[in-house]
Amino acid sequence: MMHRFFADESRSDSETAFLTAEDARHALTVLRLKAGDRVEVLRQRQRFLAEITDTADGEVRLSLLSSLPGTEPALNITLFQGLPKGDKMDWVVQKAAEIGVSRVVPVQMQRCVVRLEPKDFRRKTERWQRIAHESCKQCGRGVEPEVTEPVAFPALPPLLQPLEAVMVPWEECGQGGPMAFVGAHPKLCSLGIVIGPEGGISPEEMAFLQSCSGVPVTLGPRILRAETAGLAAVSAILALYGEME
Ligand code: SAH
Repeated sequence: MMHRFFADESRSDSETAFLTAEDARHALTVLRLKAGDRVEVLRQRQRFLAEITDTADGEVRLSLLSSLPGTEPALNITLFQGLPKGDKMDWVVQKAAEIGVSRVVPVQMQRCVVRLEPKDFRRKTERWQRIAHESCKQCGRGVEPEVTEPVAFPALPPLLQPLEAVMVPWEECGQGGPMAFVGAHPKLCSLGIVIGPEGGISPEEMAFLQSCSGVPVTLGPRILRAETAGLAAVSAILALYGEME
């Protein structure tokens, strides 16, 4: 597999790129790449085939040879994830970034088992953003999904309102799954998916989401864990929109 790196956007143009300092160090000291080696470079949301032309002074200079096919889905998905216990959010961010979400918004909900203190928000969010970054590098995405700081449930409306549709997987929803949802929304550019924490979405939260145009859907008769449900929903939606071909 070809090694993949991020370009330093501030120093790259249409023909030449430099790796970020961190990627340059990795390329030179760990992978021992040299002038003449070919790599893949992610620059301005695009992927390029590139050749290393110079490695003086710990910098890696590349010549961009050709652009490679894009990897971004046409549908921008924001995953609103009720904060799960322990380090499960790390896992959700990693997998969601791989599968193709555009943004992850951790949400503090009534039935969350954990309560993150606002003083921990910044540190946690930086960690999740870092995980998303690594995920993108690994899976070849040129666009890194944004992970926002955790938001309180009542603060959701302004985040939901600009989205074209909002899907709310709810285990008590009798009928209508992702297929019915896509049938009712055949063309979308932006979609929010709201997933409850371990304890689920409370009846008041569900009523509130419906008042914000949230559409309840089932993900089938099996109850999925909080950290599984979002990824299952995102996968189903992307497949139904033809983004897994
Ligand atoms: N309160 C539930 C489990 C919640 S599962 C219980 O203990 O029985 C966590 C979240 O995953 C839910 O809030 C929902 O958003 C989603 N989810 C899990 N399984 C689902 C299913 N079969 N259909 C729709 N949503 C589901």
